[in-house]
Amino acid sequence: MVDSYWRRCAQSSRQFERAKKLLAGGVSHESRYVSPFPIYANWANGSRKRDIDGNEYIDYSMGSASLLLGHSHPSVVEALKEQVTKGTFYANCHPLEIEWAARVQDLVPSAERVRFVASGTEATMLAIRLARAYTGKSKVIRFEGHYHGWHDYAALGVKPPFHELQSAGVLKTSAEETLVRPADIAQVEETFHKEEDIAAIICEVSGASWGTVPLPEGFLPGIRALAKKHKVVLIFDEIITGFRWNPGGVQAMTGVIPDLTTLAKILTGGLPGGAVAGCEKVMRLLDPQEQVGGFSPAVFHRGTFNGNPLAAAAGVAALDEVRTGKPQRAADSIAAKLRDGFQKILKKHEVAGAVYGESSTFHIFFGKGVRGSVEGLTPADLKGMSKDKVGALQSGLRTRGVDLMSYTGGVTSCAHTEEDVALTLDAFEDTIRDLVEDGILDLL
Ligand code: PLP
Repeated sequence: MVDSYWRRCAQSSRQFERAKKLLAGGVSHESRYVSPFPIYANWANGSRKRDIDGNEYIDYSMGSASLLLGHSHPSVVEALKEQVTKGTFYANCHPLEIEWAARVQDLVPSAERVRFVASGTEATMLAIRLARAYTGKSKVIRFEGHYHGWHDYAALGVKPPFHELQSAGVLKTSAEETLVRPADIAQVEETFHKEEDIAAIICEVSGASWGTVPLPEGFLPGIRALAKKHKVVLIFDEIITGFRWNPGGVQAMTGVIPDLTTLAKILTGGLPGGAVAGCEKVMRLLDPQEQVGGFSPAVFHRGTFNGNPLAAAAGVAALDEVRTGKPQRAADSIAAKLRDGFQKILKKHEVAGAVYGESSTFHIFFGKGVRGSVEGLTPADLKGMSKDKVGALQSGLRTRGVDLMSYTGGVTSCAHTEEDVALTLDAFEDTIRDLVEDGILDLL
């Protein structure tokens, strides 16, 4: 398997040798590193992408879940072409940012006001700062394994062991202000009895890592009620779920409305950017015409590329497509067929594991004694599969022309086809057969 990867991806291996001398760690994002070297892509369209060796992949990473419409969707490409000819960046206010915000306000129930930022990480950082400013309090409740970007405010709790910092260079004081809890309402309630200084609850509304660890029934209404009772700001991180689970996100599906929502990815049609959207009484802390607590605006926030015209143009075009609900229905149906097919293959080969996921996602879990369901498994179990298993599945699929998003899961788009499903299931079955033969997977 490894030999064939070196053969098929010889040019990528040469690029990586060069990259190691130029880019820190050879990559621009730690998750893009793949052992022994990552593939280098240079073309993508619809559901497919190619690497520089000419290998084609059915893509289930889809721009880290930002491309619900598929690669190079014609409306997004057109909008970008038109905007490029009118200027790429004015460093002024411009009408498209208003058009863009209007679509967000229209679709996302909590979005009384919108502030654009330059990434998802910036969105959650700003949302937490707003919550602290609004409440005058400091601590943030967050949940085991949920990902809110890479800044200090959310660094504790991403990777197991969840109560120890998993990165050097993070302020200890920031970690001290972070209360990591399992997604369990009783434990959140107990936290409010023990701690006074709580500003916010932040939650990935799919459950940790786009649903790798599903949330228990009733969890979102439960934290909504607790946030209200204890007068803290409820932040829904809808950076993945926003516009994907539903045109208005999980909040529109469930009717559970947070105070602040963080958005990115599909929001920008796959360009860099993000937003905080939320209730006027909190968002007014960003208003330069208001004085609150002796500051004007109350909350300091800048960012050269916030709301930049290219992201705005792509975002408007993308939101005009996703508002119909059609792309979500197409992507959901493909993901459901994949989940069903993967599950049947695991059963046929008597592999101990489960396939699960909501909306246009799928997750595959391998573990001793697991029979088709992940119920009862902890976040540490679900996010703690051995590197051997994860790497073997990823590289087995990649060698057969299927690229996952990360870990052992993927997302679909409305550009994926029935043919993609059939090819993916063939690649999956061949990979599983090999992994069983190599003794990498546990059998029932
Ligand atoms: N929050 C969630 C739920 C995410 O999935 C991500 C990125 O994948 C982020 C925040 C951070 O966004 P970005 O990578 O744009 O900084």
